[in-house]
Amino acid sequence: MKKEKTLLIIKPDGVERSLIGQIIKRHERVGLKLVALKFLVPTVEMIESHYTVDPEWLRKVGQKTIDGYRAKNILPPSEDPVENGKNVLRRLTKYMKSGPVVAMVWQGAHSVGIVRKIVGGTEPLNSDVGTIRGDFVTDSYIISGADDRAVRNVVHASGSVEEAEKEIKLWFGSKEILNYRLIQEEVLYDVNLDGILE
Ligand code: ADP
Ligand code: MG
Repeated sequence: MKKEKTLLIIKPDGVERSLIGQIIKRHERVGLKLVALKFLVPTVEMIESHYTVDPEWLRKVGQKTIDGYRAKNILPPSEDPVENGKNVLRRLTKYMKSGPVVAMVWQGAHSVGIVRKIVGGTEPLNSDVGTIRGDFVTDSYIISGADDRAVRNVVHASGSVEEAEKEIKLWFGSKEILNYRLIQEEVLYDVNLDGILE
């Protein structure tokens, strides 16, 4: 658990908004360790494989969309979750290949859950203040839907440990994930905190 890894991607809008430094800083300050990083324009194949590592994702994302519309008393574009999901994937592919992204692997205790907490909920309109999506963007399902585009929410973060393991393998070769020691890890994880007093 102390060595849990998660995938974080700064999406093209995050790079365009010059938020790379601020996003990295929020993950450093909580005590996570950066173990892999690359800057690239993803291909359509990579994006499609990435979003379909969980075979249930299309249905889940479609259902979340329907719930988002219903919560605002607006009719969703379709009543079928999978159909909505496919529509989201089409928009997402266009969004994610529009420019460079920063892909990273962050390691540390509960990194998947901690990073999701730092990133915030999917729809910026409802993401908590203090989270990346809550602090840096104002987008919503309604506005992005009307413009037939993906919700621009600055970052991607793995949703579960299982998702993280599959996603990391898609974006990084095993040699690109570095094993090294951060001095602060002794304070974060050592049982006895010995070795501080001289
Ligand atoms: P998260 O990124 O929070 O894990 P999902 O996995 O459900 O969220 O969705 C992946 C991405 O697809 C979101 O971050 C967002 O950019 C986009 N997205 C999700 N639902 C919609 C929607 N209804 N309309 C437009 N874009 C969406
Ligand atoms: Mg997700």
